[in-house]
Parts: sequence; C-alpha cells; structure tokens
Amino acid sequence: MPLIVHKYGGSSVADGDKIKNVARRIAKARDEGNQVVVVVSAMGDTTDELFRLAYEISAHPDDRELDVLLSTGEVVSSTLLAMALGTSGYKAVSLTGAQAGIQTDSSYSRARILCVDAERIVSELKEGNVVIVAGFQGVTQNMDTTTLGRGGSDTTAVALAAALKADECHIYTDVEGVYTADPRLVPDAVKLDKVSYEEMLELASYGARVIHPRAVELGGLYDVPILVAASFSEKPGTIIAKEASMEVRNKVRGIAHDTNVAKITVIGVPDQPGIAMNIFEPLTRANISVDTIVQNASIEGITDLTFTVARNELVKAMSIVEPVAKSIGARECTANSCLAKVSIVGTGMENAPGYAARMFRALYGENINIQLITTSEIRITCIINEDRVGDSVRALHKIFELDAT
Ligand code: ADP
Ligand code: ASP
Ligand code: MG
Repeated sequence: MPLIVHKYGGSSVADGDKIKNVARRIAKARDEGNQVVVVVSAMGDTTDELFRLAYEISAHPDDRELDVLLSTGEVVSSTLLAMALGTSGYKAVSLTGAQAGIQTDSSYSRARILCVDAERIVSELKEGNVVIVAGFQGVTQNMDTTTLGRGGSDTTAVALAAALKADECHIYTDVEGVYTADPRLVPDAVKLDKVSYEEMLELASYGARVIHPRAVELGGLYDVPILVAASFSEKPGTIIAKEASMEVRNKVRGIAHDTNVAKITVIGVPDQPGIAMNIFEPLTRANISVDTIVQNASIEGITDLTFTVARNELVKAMSIVEPVAKSIGARECTANSCLAKVSIVGTGMENAPGYAARMFRALYGENINIQLITTSEIRITCIINEDRVGDSVRALHKIFELDAT
C-alpha cells in the first residue's frame, strides 16, 4: 500500500471547520488506498500567541521552558485532527514529536533532527491508523522537548517522509504552490510547476516562507520530491525535485524577500589579525546567526565592519558586540533594524553576466538605495530599507519578466 505524508500549516487548521476540511482530505487519501502520516502545525497564530504569553511573564524566558510551551500548539491541533477523523469513522492516533521518535540535538528553538526512530509510527500504521504527528518538535537524548525553528513543521514532514521511505510528501498551505514571488506582494506572480531543490533552498533561506529551508535541504539530501499545494483546492501545485528542465535554466526563477533583517556596524576598527574572531566568536557562542558580513578596505589601519542578524536577535547581538567593540578599541557601534533583503534566484544566473546590473537598474529605477550586496552562484541579494520592499520586489519581478514565466 503506498505511504504518503501530508503536512498542513497553521492557516489550514486555524479553526474547527478547517480541521474538519483537513480530516476530509485525509479520509479521501485513505479511501484511495494509501497509508497516511500527517504532520500538523499549531492552529492559526497560536505559536505567536504562546510567544507573547512567555514574554509577558518574563523578559528572558528560559530556553527549555519556552520550547516546551511552544510545542504545545502542535499537540492541540494533532489531537483535534485525530478526533475529527475518529468521528468520521477513520482510525487515527496523534503522536508528539517525542512519541514519533524525532530525536534532535539540544539547541533549543533551533534544534536539528539527528535521527528518526520510526518504530512507533510503523506499528501504528500496521494497526490501520492514520498517524498524526505534532510538527515543529523533537526530543533530546535526555528526553527534553525541543523545537525546530519557526516554520519547522515542514522539516518534520520531510524528515518523516525520508525516514519512512514514503512514496509522496505533500506540504499543504494557504497558497496553490511556489510562485515567482510572494503572491501577497506581487499580484502578477506566477505559480511554478517545478523548482529544483537548489533554487528552492536559496528562495526559502532568503525569505520565501512557503517552505522551511531545512525541509528543502532534507528533501535534496534524501531525494524526497516535495509537492507544495493548497489545502483549500485540488489544483496541482509545485513539485520541488532535482534539476528543473533545460528550458528554464537560463532564467531568474524567483524573487524572495525577508523583512526580518537588522544591521550592525562597528566603526573605526583597528585593521589587524584577530579582530573578526573577537567579534564573531562570542556571537556564535550565544547561538546568534550572522549573515552578510562586509569589511571595508582599511584607510590608515582603520576599517569598518558591517554584518546582519535577524531583527529579533538585534538587542542580544548588540549587548554582546558593544563591549567587545570597546575592548578592541573600535570607535563606535551602530544598529539599524528597519531593513529588508530582496534576492533574485535562478540556476540560470550561474556563469552568466548581466543579472546584477539588471537588478541594480531595476532598483535605481525605483530610486531605492542599496546598502549591502551579497551573492552566491545562483543568487544576488540587496539589503535595502524595509519600507521599499514591495516596490523593489515588484520592479525586479517586472525587469526579469517573471509574469511571463
Ligand atoms: P503555513 O502556515 O501553511 O506553513 P506559511 O505562512 O508558512 O504557511 O507559508 C505560506 C505563505 O508563504 C503564503 O501565504 C505566502 O504569502 C508566502 N510566500 C512567500 N513567498 C512565496 C512564494 N514564492 N510562493 C508562494 N508563497 C510565498
Ligand atoms: N507553529 C510553528 C510556527 O508557527 C511551526 C510551523 O508552523 O511550521 O512557526
Ligand atoms: Mg510555514
């Protein structure tokens, strides 16, 4: 019997009626002769609400307690979905991440899956159950609950599909697939039929939140084709799989944007060995990811160092960098939290000149100032003021003719 994994995001299980709709979709998959494992996110904005509560109680919630709290959202939706299926006459059982055998490291709030011990899931499937797994969570060797990072239920789904060697992995959400840009920002955005893991990983890492980057990474690693489609329609969706077809190679495939960006500049740093190490090592120890790093050419032995962090980590990052900057004799430290990244992505850009110039022309055409630029082989990212993000994404979508994809 084919085994399929379905994942339903928060908006797809936001209320009782939506949970019943999901139950109907699962019942249909079961009637069609499949074994079904389902991964669910927390209902609607539950995770945001749990965060809000935690910060109402404490300015610095304990990492371990916070992860247990956040994991409860997915437990609620998984149990309700099991009840909905049971009421319709389908055998179903809900499992927490720990019960489902999802073992992680102990980096709270961004834990990585180390392995999946799928024994319990397999035995529940043998019993004829639909197995509903609470997404976004796992357990350490010491049996402490962890969470996988915001949006991490996608990663749960792909990890389970890989571990169970599922025939299909479907991510159901509130849009009909992966588009050339966020359809909420660009009304002309076009749904892609197929996108490669490589391109999707860059798009997702740079803000296209329709799928979590680690889910894409796992899909590529274990060769799990992933279907992204809507939970509210039967339209075909987008397949994320190995290299897309030849004809689309020579193109920008999509535009991503991310508004969770803050920039720190350390001004007047002595240009000598060990300075970068002194600044970045304490950030790493504090589990803060640093993204774009730019160091100016030095003038008379003095330089400036700029880098970006997630906006919600700015205060913590500044509290670490400011004393370090002082101790190494830097002049001052400044921060800007009203920034955004806009990125163009496409394997067609590899070894082909002209894409950067076209991108800069589009932004110039909108009078948008570029503050920092970074690139990979298949991506160019500009950091700009957040209030121009919509204009820039639309201008880039137009100049790269993505409405004609
Ligand atoms: P879920 O709750 O189902 O996990 P998310 O809110 O995490 O859903 O992701 C879906 C959202 O991703 C869409 O509503 C859309 O606004 C956004 N999005 C951003 N970029 C893209 C893109 N390129 N294609 C489709 N959706 C995108
Ligand atoms: N509920 C979690 C979040 O809001 C995980 C997820 O939805 O994938 O980030
Ligand atoms: Mg999501």
